[in-house]
Amino acid sequence: MTDRKDELATNLAKVERRIADACAAAGRGRGDVTLIVVTKTYPASDVRMLAELGVRHVAENRDQDAAPKAAACADLPLTWHFVGQLQTNKVRSVAGYADFVQSVDRSKLVTALSKEAVRAGRELGCLLQVALDAGESERGERGGVAPGGIEELADLVAGAPGLRLDGLMTVAPLTGEYAGREQAAFERLMDLSTDLRRSHPAATMVSAGMSADLEQAVAAGATHVRVGSAVLGVRPRLG
Ligand SMILES: *Cc1c(COP(=O)(O)O)cnc(C)c1O
Repeated sequence: MTDRKDELATNLAKVERRIADACAAAGRGRGDVTLIVVTKTYPASDVRMLAELGVRHVAENRDQDAAPKAAACADLPLTWHFVGQLQTNKVRSVAGYADFVQSVDRSKLVTALSKEAVRAGRELGCLLQVALDAGESERGERGGVAPGGIEELADLVAGAPGLRLDGLMTVAPLTGEYAGREQAAFERLMDLSTDLRRSHPAATMVSAGMSADLEQAVAAGATHVRVGSAVLGVRPRLG
């Protein structure tokens, strides 16, 4: 193995162990939690090595980086998740390679995603990004719909051609009542997921937890964790 592949294998094993331990501690099966490796800012060659090491889910947050990477890795058995704030002018590109968009947070985006999914002949899995630092009706600083807006947006996605409502996603907030209280934030997301599943029983995905707080997310009941730096290394720049 190359040095880089060795490094990725070692990091991946550590993360795998953390997830397995967190599942055991929570009395959950390891199969109940899916690891998504966030490859943003890292090259397609890393994505390829990760696929060789058994990774099946990857995530990106900027279309400019993700589109060429996904094209370079089109031969690999990977599921691509888009997790960044998404401008409507990037939707056509994203709909071409993403299997899931986890950052759906406004009706205009739903309309655009639906149109481009239909145009591309693809079905896009959608997660509503929930802003736990927003007021009941605002949008979050870093995107996301406020809890009070979930139901309406969910109905919109569920009724949109080319889209499938799969669940909820959040990022632990840095401000507001949940700042520094990751587990409480993730438990709140679980409660919101329970509410959502009353009207949309198939929307079972709960995407929460990153390198620093995946244990709290697993404890709260997350079905998907999104891990970047713990696998690939600390990113040279914010992204
Ligand atoms: C970058 C990113 C992650 C991964 O963060 P790490 O701290 O590197 O694990 C997860 N989710 C989203 C939305 C991200 O942008």
